[in-house]
Amino acid sequence: MPAPCSACGASPAALRRPKTGHALCRACFLAAFEEETHQAIVAGRLFRPGETVAIGASGGKDSTVLAHLLQLLDQRHGYGLRLLLLSVDEGIAGYRDASLAAVRRHQRRSGLPLHVVSYCQLYGWSMDRIARHLGPRNNCTFCGVFRRQALDRGALLMGADKIATGHNADDVAETVLMNFLRGDVGRLRRGAGTGPAGGEGAVPRCKPLRHAYEKEIVLYAYFQGLDYFSTECVYAPQAYRGYARALLKDLEAARPSAVADLGHSGERLSLRSDLRMPARGTCQRCGYVASQPLCKACVLLEGLDRGLPKLGIGKHRRLRDKLRDGQPLTQEERRRLGAPAEGEPPEEQEPRGELGTDEEPWGRRELRGPQDLDF
Ligand code: SF4
Ligand code: ZN
Repeated sequence: MPAPCSACGASPAALRRPKTGHALCRACFLAAFEEETHQAIVAGRLFRPGETVAIGASGGKDSTVLAHLLQLLDQRHGYGLRLLLLSVDEGIAGYRDASLAAVRRHQRRSGLPLHVVSYCQLYGWSMDRIARHLGPRNNCTFCGVFRRQALDRGALLMGADKIATGHNADDVAETVLMNFLRGDVGRLRRGAGTGPAGGEGAVPRCKPLRHAYEKEIVLYAYFQGLDYFSTECVYAPQAYRGYARALLKDLEAARPSAVADLGHSGERLSLRSDLRMPARGTCQRCGYVASQPLCKACVLLEGLDRGLPKLGIGKHRRLRDKLRDGQPLTQEERRRLGAPAEGEPPEEQEPRGELGTDEEPWGRRELRGPQDLDF
């Protein structure tokens, strides 16, 4: 016979909360999780009445729970928000196509408008094609940079004031670990809060689930019967984040509060006041936020378009300078930048779609890349 719920005492407990250790029944767990999310939204002043909020919807558990909760809490507490779903299609066969199907099912059930932007439309490259050029490593570097811009560009096209993402406490703790290991002080400073400050991108972002444990998000989705896609991306096993995740799981096994502690450390971290942070400007090519003459996406795209996919990653400044000055590269230098071996046939271009939504077209514009979008 299960113990009674420690909150209501009436129903048998259905779970022990990973975050607090409390034994709760289904109804009390759902109520506690929803109330904590509401409190995080209120305490962080994440939204203002009348705002249009684009929910980054991947079809996975986090964004599915986030979309469900925001719609429910908006109705329950009268936030006065206009909610939209915004998805990015990276062009990963067998993964994103299936997860987008889950987003579409959610869209039909919830009635929220859905907009999809794709890497092919924005950049002319799908992740599958990038991976064919690049090999198994560093794909997530391209994907992460492109996704950040894609979300911003999609949100701007939709007229959104803010982007809400489904990052949870485990994601934030992993990010703090990764940035610490890389010595990336800029991202350490920006990365751990719930929002609503603008962060790196063009549209302010917030993370309403930033204090929610991943295990509790899975429990919430299970007890609510939410339909989500849970297969891992084919490129994920090569991702650096996987090592941070494994380290975090070990830390959590030894000390269950490690997830919350790391997130807290990220928020509390202070940097020397005389530390110079990169100045925020705009990309000379596409107009996106950049701290260098070209934004990271344009640097990566230049490498891809030149047939030198590693040009934008790693320490290749000397070779970049050579190219900028019009000097030819040696075969060995080209090989280091990932150029195909001599005699290899050039690959066919992927068809570029139109930047559209599931409901209505954005307009029939020929898109060559980020520089072609109004920004
Ligand atoms: Fe993109 Fe890497 Fe995530 Fe796959 S695992 S969706 S390649 S960032
Ligand atoms: Zn750019």
